[in-house]
Amino acid sequence: MRKNIVAGNWKMNNDLAQTQELIADLKKQISAAPAATVMIAPTYTNLYPAFEALKNTPVIVAAQNMHQNASGAFTGEISAAMLKSVGVETVILGHSERRAYFKESNELLAEKVNTALENDMTVIFCFGEELEDRKADKHFDLVESQLKESLYHLSKESWKNIILAYEPVWAIGTGETASPEQAQEMHAFIRKSIADAYGSEIAEEVSILYGGSVKPANAKEIFAKEDVDGGLIGGASLKAEDFLAIVNAF
Ligand code: PGA
Repeated sequence: MRKNIVAGNWKMNNDLAQTQELIADLKKQISAAPAATVMIAPTYTNLYPAFEALKNTPVIVAAQNMHQNASGAFTGEISAAMLKSVGVETVILGHSERRAYFKESNELLAEKVNTALENDMTVIFCFGEELEDRKADKHFDLVESQLKESLYHLSKESWKNIILAYEPVWAIGTGETASPEQAQEMHAFIRKSIADAYGSEIAEEVSILYGGSVKPANAKEIFAKEDVDGGLIGGASLKAEDFLAIVNAF
């Protein structure tokens, strides 16, 4: 059976002291056996302290991004090996903010995915349409091309290290969530597309998270949908109480 996962994307929030405080709150409030796999993605500078503080807890520390090259003259960038050296084995790739503000293309993301997998990392791969795509009824095609161009070159074997996160751009940080029906419709489409490309066994195994204004008040309804296997949480992951309420929505 596929895993239920709730991952917190802290984005560019929390300095060291705030990171330590939020982690202390999480440790205090999290149950010994949470209802879903729990991940948090602090900023680069806080990954190591987060990893150290969360040893012997069920919480997995993930990075928000990574460079596709192994090392060299790429000022300001971080490699897979660097992440692994501080205990981080999971990386978010393709977040819509990286695509929009840092011009990350499907092609570049394919390279990043390859590098992460070559380094035995797990990838949380984000994708999703913008409002204009949905209005023009192009959202299914757009989503499928994002998957095709960044992931469908992978071997069947690689899929065990892929987690998908469907995040309609119009729902991120806007307070406007996709309805549970809209999420289910897209998640079922994604699973079918994977089944067509790789067979139903792989499609049934891959966890597909929903992201975009998930909060304690709507998580239960969204997670109840058959093809929604969890969430990637931005704003609501910055408070332990809210984040854990979302984890407990399973
Ligand atoms: P949000 O962000 O929950 O604040 O909408 C989600 C995300 O960007 O992953």
